[in-house]
Amino acid sequence: MVCSVRYCIEPKSLDAHLFEITITLERPDPQGQRLSLPVWIPGSYMLREFARHIVELRAHSTAGPVAVLKTSKDAWLCAPSPGPLHVSYCVYAGDPSVRGAFLDRTRGYFNGASVFLRVHGKEAEACTLAISPPAGAACAGWRVATAMPRREAEAHGFGLYEARDYEELLDHPVEMGEFSLGAFQACGVPHEVAVSGRHSADMERLCNDLKRLCEYHIRFFGESAPFADYLFLVSATGEGYGGLEHRASCSLVCARDDLPRAGGANVSDGYRSFLGLCSHEYFHAGNVKRIKPAAFTSHDLAHEAYTRLLWAFEGITSYYDDLALVRCGLISPPAYLELLGKTATRVWRTPGRRRQTLEEASFDAWIKFYRPDENSPNATVSYYTKGALVAACLDLLLRSQTDGRRSLDDVMRTLWTRFGQTGLGVPEDGVEAVAKEVGGIDLTAFFDGALRGTEELPLGGLLASHGVSFRLRAAEGASDEGGKPGSLTEEQIRSRPALGVRVAASGEAKILAVFEDGAAQAAGLAAGDVIVAIDGLRVSAANWEHRVHACTVGLPVPLFAFRGDLLLRVEVVPQAPIQDTCVMALQDDAGTKALALRAAWLDGG
Ligand code: ZN
Repeated sequence: MVCSVRYCIEPKSLDAHLFEITITLERPDPQGQRLSLPVWIPGSYMLREFARHIVELRAHSTAGPVAVLKTSKDAWLCAPSPGPLHVSYCVYAGDPSVRGAFLDRTRGYFNGASVFLRVHGKEAEACTLAISPPAGAACAGWRVATAMPRREAEAHGFGLYEARDYEELLDHPVEMGEFSLGAFQACGVPHEVAVSGRHSADMERLCNDLKRLCEYHIRFFGESAPFADYLFLVSATGEGYGGLEHRASCSLVCARDDLPRAGGANVSDGYRSFLGLCSHEYFHAGNVKRIKPAAFTSHDLAHEAYTRLLWAFEGITSYYDDLALVRCGLISPPAYLELLGKTATRVWRTPGRRRQTLEEASFDAWIKFYRPDENSPNATVSYYTKGALVAACLDLLLRSQTDGRRSLDDVMRTLWTRFGQTGLGVPEDGVEAVAKEVGGIDLTAFFDGALRGTEELPLGGLLASHGVSFRLRAAEGASDEGGKPGSLTEEQIRSRPALGVRVAASGEAKILAVFEDGAAQAAGLAAGDVIVAIDGLRVSAANWEHRVHACTVGLPVPLFAFRGDLLLRVEVVPQAPIQDTCVMALQDDAGTKALALRAAWLDGG
């Protein structure tokens, strides 16, 4: 059957980074056909205004050219015309992230939200997508990787693909180029990994590790997988990091050095974080792609979709991404506690956690989390990191209050059967209600504090009830991310003063952020100031930390800085270092009950 809505995309110019898209409509709206492009992409809560990359949109029918009126920044109206109507345009593809479109001589990549116009009135109709190869012998080896169902195309070939509706068309990103391909089965479901970009990854090891991880996640929800097959699209770069979830695939950007090398058996810090990223996006196939907030079920990508639940969709996912690694044996329990300690450190180092609640952070993601500025650390908290800690607290609370009979795993499985399998949206109070019901305990005070309050989370006590110690220490330097015991003694750390600023890592000692109530704020310094001398000695980013450590806590020192072209002289009083670095460790002398709870928690029992 020929679909009445047909999309074609082809690389028009690799060097000008242009895709050309043509849409053919057999039966355009007789009143005039409205078209629009999404302004945001699901999974990334910011208005990205993809239409700004559209170049030269034209329409014609068998009767000749059709007039097109731009009606808003992201919408067009084609004059009434007999079918078929052909609309063509180019999209500038210069975004190497996972959220837009990219094209050059090495590869092409696109998300439907950034390239395919919505045909108003036809959103629910099935459509086809013809993907054409770039011209030229240099691209003869290019292949296609996408989870979009094939209609008339060889596996990994250019040709005709199909989608049940417009929403599905947008939810299968497409990679084209020369990539490495790995394949494995997880619980009988075919999975593939396509790695593009220069790399020397051990694809066999990568597939073996991902198989373990994916099988854990499929079994977690106690169901057969919600997709017929799944694809990891990986773009290996110099030092990128990021991912975006889709219904049967995910797009990842990683540092090529984080991928496992042939011959290696250990899990490097970089590979551990790559596996955590894969785990995160894969868990999203359940939590947010299928169990989703009611606010995300309207398919309206023309306006913001507000929800106070991102702590559950991003925070709970962030909690399970690393937890899955220890539960499936890819990392050890101490390595897991190091990761959880790093997450806690990021929260404890955010003064904004005392200003913004998690629900506020979620609701305002559009203007705050995705648009950070120099004051963000003082004014906001991340629903990823604090959300992950709330998930950890909730899990440990359920386990300890029910003597291990209930856990967050049970909450997620109930959410899955009630919302994931039915397609119903989760109401704004839905996650709390299910947690209370599944746990059979009153969690009102916990949720009020964790989601709608700004007090410190009860993490230490809950970890102690699971045979894990929690303590805070001062940071040993800018590269200290926490999670590990320090190498300095308490006395050595105490003698190292702090100024309460974050300074650029290289070049001039430019202030990136001034923390609330810190010495730099008290001295009148501001983000953007370039510090040139402290205590009479020149400083740069390279020796900044060394010079600050040479100061004495409580003893004022002169500091010179440029604000624009104006030289400032201030007096700064170095403070004692703040205890904002979290360390967790297994406590093997804990009681039998605590050790049993810990084993069940880390084993997934
Ligand atoms: Zn996520």
